[in-house]
Amino acid sequence: MNKKATTTIAGPNTRLTHAGYDPRSFHGFVNPPVVHASTVLFPDAKTMETRDQKYTYGTRGTPTTDALAGAIDDLEGSAGTIVVPSGLAAVTVPLLAFLSAGDHALIVDSVYFPTRHFCDTMLKRLGVAVDYYDPALGADIAKMMKQNTKVVLTESPGSNTFEMQDIPAVAAAAHAHGAVVMMDNTWATPLFFKPLDHGVDISIHAATKYPGGHSDVLLGTVSANARTWQTLKDAQYALGVCAAPDDCYAVLKGLRTMGIRLERHQETALALARALEGREGVARVLHPALPSHPGHDLWKRDFKGASGLFAIVLAGADADHHKPKAHAFLNALRIFGLGYSWGGYESLAVHANLSDRTVASPPTEGPVIRLQIGLEDEDDLLADLERGLAAAAAA
Ligand SMILES: *Cc1c(COP(=O)(O)O)cnc(C)c1O
Repeated sequence: MNKKATTTIAGPNTRLTHAGYDPRSFHGFVNPPVVHASTVLFPDAKTMETRDQKYTYGTRGTPTTDALAGAIDDLEGSAGTIVVPSGLAAVTVPLLAFLSAGDHALIVDSVYFPTRHFCDTMLKRLGVAVDYYDPALGADIAKMMKQNTKVVLTESPGSNTFEMQDIPAVAAAAHAHGAVVMMDNTWATPLFFKPLDHGVDISIHAATKYPGGHSDVLLGTVSANARTWQTLKDAQYALGVCAAPDDCYAVLKGLRTMGIRLERHQETALALARALEGREGVARVLHPALPSHPGHDLWKRDFKGASGLFAIVLAGADADHHKPKAHAFLNALRIFGLGYSWGGYESLAVHANLSDRTVASPPTEGPVIRLQIGLEDEDDLLADLERGLAAAAAA
């Protein structure tokens, strides 16, 4: 966004439409150039030696990565954003940036599973101690802080069972002990929650999800406040994890429509959550915007909206990790695809595997089915879910 616009534009959809690029800087074309680049030429030997120009090498940023990073900064209110090749890299790069051998990290137990895998394998191998904490802990997380706790990682809500965290309370306790607070904010997007306004230092997004929006790109963004920006940026340079221009362009294009897509995702998901709650065959609906959800008050206090991902707990436990009922439900679906990830235009369902939990107990009434609600018509999706419920009841 150009200087004039930044100071005068406030609304989220206006920001999404204009953020991150100044068409006047490239002949007036509405969209930024997709710059495929390694080498950048310098005008003379002295400039090459001092690298005294805006762009110096492909790994250090291009007009395309800058356009996307600038747009995310505008949405997050961050001092700087790095763009990395996947959402998982958006988790691992900041962890590597702020943790050293001998340090301790606190990770929320409802965390995205590949994050846990990274902590339990690579971080441990590098000499970092990791403890998992209950997502219900607010200020009490202070009791788990150690002398060497350098990072507290949050994710709210959890992306399978949707536990909400008291982010401001966790951040205050972590800062009192000198730790950096990170949040995987993929579920809410910066439209529904702005972590840096609630005490978080580093906001993480799988841009693969809603920003991309079409299940056709993998990308991650990490946005830092002024205190943490330089360290984060240095770690990206040191590691060499930079994003490809076409992928940045695809996400920038997705961002332009993210606001209206999210409105529809939110509306349909909430309508379906309400329709499923209390229905025969459904033990519980796990959606933070429902008053029945244990984290509803936190959601209402801190969030501006809910995206299109929630879960249902089917009634009726059975042997073999609830698999027969879960599989019957999934196999009866005709519109919902069976697949991982979310945030695209199409609906998806998956049987959530919660066997990784060490602290926060998963629901026991029956299988947890996670639903990504796409842009299809609500009636069609409800009819599909009813097919699933009927099949699960018969299983
Ligand atoms: C999908 C996801 C990621 C990882 O994103 P990828 O681009 O698939 O690597 C990270 N965190 C959360 C919460 C996610 O849902």
